[in-house]
Amino acid sequence: MDTHTLSLLNDLFQEVQQKQDWKAGLDTLFISMRGSFVFDNVAIYLEDPLTKGLDVAYARAMGRGKNAEADAAWGESLANEVISTGNIVMKEPQSGSTHPNRLALAHLIGFPLYIGARLSGALVVIRFGGPEYSKLHIQIASLQAFWVAALIERRDLQEARSELDSVQRQMRLQDDFVSTISHELRTPLGFIKGYSTSLLRQDTTWDEETTHEFLNIIDEEADRLTRLIEDMLESARLQSKTLQFKFSPVRIDALLRDVATRINTHHPELKITFDLEPLPPIHGDGMRLSQVFDNLFSNAIKYAPTSEIVISMSASGDYLRVTFADKGEGIPGDYLPFLFERFYRVPGERTVTGTGLGLYICKQIVMAHHGNIWVESVLGEGTTFIIELPIDPTL
Ligand code: ADP
Repeated sequence: MDTHTLSLLNDLFQEVQQKQDWKAGLDTLFISMRGSFVFDNVAIYLEDPLTKGLDVAYARAMGRGKNAEADAAWGESLANEVISTGNIVMKEPQSGSTHPNRLALAHLIGFPLYIGARLSGALVVIRFGGPEYSKLHIQIASLQAFWVAALIERRDLQEARSELDSVQRQMRLQDDFVSTISHELRTPLGFIKGYSTSLLRQDTTWDEETTHEFLNIIDEEADRLTRLIEDMLESARLQSKTLQFKFSPVRIDALLRDVATRINTHHPELKITFDLEPLPPIHGDGMRLSQVFDNLFSNAIKYAPTSEIVISMSASGDYLRVTFADKGEGIPGDYLPFLFERFYRVPGERTVTGTGLGLYICKQIVMAHHGNIWVESVLGEGTTFIIELPIDPTL
């Protein structure tokens, strides 16, 4: 190989390698290699490890001829042959044949793709109307096939890597969760035990007001325990997709006002402002949707104390959009992508009690409504949760 070719290959290698997306890498590779090895269409077939059937992983029409994506069936039988033999397979029209339409003279060649040392698929190219594949062409195309296999292997590794990262993060969160939950369970239990033991003491008598206060604390702490256990059960049911939803027409503006009224009875100081556009009801589970807003309120009270809450509702395309904004401290941008993960709590958030289940539950409920929830936050300015729920035009 001369130095000029080597330097071209080196440049191409760098360019392909830099592409984040494997398909963009393949595009660059094929467009560039076509200068030395002409073909009209290219397709990559990969074996499905479970069904053993062939899937078209990539297809592209480079020259004249058919639309590759719509018609990648042209190479399938050749790909099957490549995979069953493990060899390069060629299919060319009989030597010397002519036809007025060059599309009728298909020259096909298929190369095995070894991914992680396993024969996993085939690269097939088609050239209409010749010329026949020369030895040099076959060598260039074989190099191309090696390269394709390497790119697919890199894609598989990247996918495996990000899956592993997510599993590792989940494991770490679960570890944290065990210590958080034991603390969260012990605290209300400690109060209940402490105040009931005091009330039961034989050597002391309590006046009515104190007795009432103690009983109130016991009652509130028992409620807190119940909520905690319900959250845990619910998040487990949501994860295993066994939570039942009861759908019916729901007016979100009325639901928001109901939840706010309930919250205000416990937190009369909390200022809640509404800006609600009148919209038709949606198809939803009112109890679960109330739970979503309950959670957002309880978070705002915990993480943005003293802030007012502004809730707005409007139509956004086919969706009803609710924005729920506080003017608290906000959340650093680095943490925002993980906020809706099960057990996730912003690091350093240890002074405020919580389990990291609330927003996970919110997200699962909204998704069960085929909606969307996300968060926007500006440090020092506040946090806004946005929920979109599909509008049902029949309601
Ligand atoms: P929990 O409140 O039990 O920790 P959530 O899933 O409800 O769990 O919330 C996850 C994290 O998101 C919280 O730990 C908190 O750090 C952050 N967070 C949620 N809502 C707000 C908010 N309104 N302002 C600031 N941080 C918030």
